[in-house]
Amino acid sequence: VNRSDVHYFGAGPAPLPTAVLEKATQVILNYKDKGIGLFEISHRSPEANEVLADAKQALATLLDIPDDYKVLFLQSGGSGEFSATVYNLVAIWVEKKRAKIAEEVGDDKDEVLRRLRKIVDEELKLDYLVTGSWSLKASQEATRLVGAKHVNVAIDARKANNGKFGIIPPESEWGLTPRTTVGGPALVYFCDNETVDGVEFPAFPSSLEGDDAPLVCADMSSNFISRKVDVRKYAVIFGGAQKNIGNTGIAIVILRKSLLPPHSTPASPDLLRELRLPVGPIVLDYPTIAKNNSLYNTLPIFDVWVAGQVMSALVNTYGIKKISGQEEISNEKARLIYETLDKYPNVYRVVPDKAVRSRMNICFRVSGGDADKEKAFLAGAEKKGLLGLKGHRSVGGIRVSNCKCTYNNLLYYRCFCFTTV
Ligand code: PLP
Repeated sequence: VNRSDVHYFGAGPAPLPTAVLEKATQVILNYKDKGIGLFEISHRSPEANEVLADAKQALATLLDIPDDYKVLFLQSGGSGEFSATVYNLVAIWVEKKRAKIAEEVGDDKDEVLRRLRKIVDEELKLDYLVTGSWSLKASQEATRLVGAKHVNVAIDARKANNGKFGIIPPESEWGLTPRTTVGGPALVYFCDNETVDGVEFPAFPSSLEGDDAPLVCADMSSNFISRKVDVRKYAVIFGGAQKNIGNTGIAIVILRKSLLPPHSTPASPDLLRELRLPVGPIVLDYPTIAKNNSLYNTLPIFDVWVAGQVMSALVNTYGIKKISGQEEISNEKARLIYETLDKYPNVYRVVPDKAVRSRMNICFRVSGGDADKEKAFLAGAEKKGLLGLKGHRSVGGIRVSNCKCTYNNLLYYRCFCFTTV
């Protein structure tokens, strides 16, 4: 079977452009005629630095990342950032409180600690909008790290939907930590696109905006660079590269610089230990990674190169349209498939509510979820070279993943729509 014979719709790892892979085979063997390949050269070499700078530049161009944001590359995967956001933002929240108390009570360290303990005990909250399996996992990780009493699940979308994900409740029903408590929550976390459940936030939530907006962390693993994003609304945006941007091996973090020294100082490990709060591993420490230009430890430069190639190709394709060019295509791909599914309501049922349907992961059932019919659907699709359509093992059904900014041939989608009915 040739690459050109199949169309792979898996959620991620996801297909890469053949042209990038062909070039990759060359750079693995011999990068820029150095006689040595990209897997082999030092991550601290000038060549590696150039790869890193190019990838950053392409991302900054695509998403219009303002100068007061920093782009980091880490080996953490998306899941590592579930933890990193907690470690880093809790440490900043604690230090802010400590500084404020110290202003009031002066040098009396015991008194500072006594008051700080009380504030942490009563006020430390991390808000999670749980709209699907990945934000659920992130909230569970936060609970594991800081304890349930500090984690505020501001929404659990299953509650109003028969125990299943598939909706986003109206913002008026969200139980966010009030901003008026001592400084509000340490963070508000959401997953912009839920890969397993096919739920995507249609837009940035308005209740997270404003002059006193909380520090918003968003997981964009499966809809990264698929639409325009107002980066300034976020404290942290992160995503694993393997879905939309590149191959498995790196995560990308876009971080507000004001969260880094000298603007913000995290609480010291000693203080965190005193307060029984977690001290994160150094490889997830944003100030350390930022200070070292993402090279605190060995970064897989080849993976950064792949991501850079994909993003540069998008920059070249869309020019001044930047990411809106990709947004139009992503929307169109989703429209084609949803329209087809909606045309046959007796056969197909899209799982999530219409208002929050993901443009990236289109989840549906065949014949009301009849196991034999869904098996037959998958087998029929496979015969036509349409692969990777099985829904996530935790929910079953069918999932068409569009989350490949690289796989833009609309013909595939027309072909999918035509052949599945
Ligand atoms: N977040 C989202 C939205 C995902 O879809 C995934 C992976 O499928 C993850 C996080 C976890 O990423 P990783 O496997 O890189 O840890």
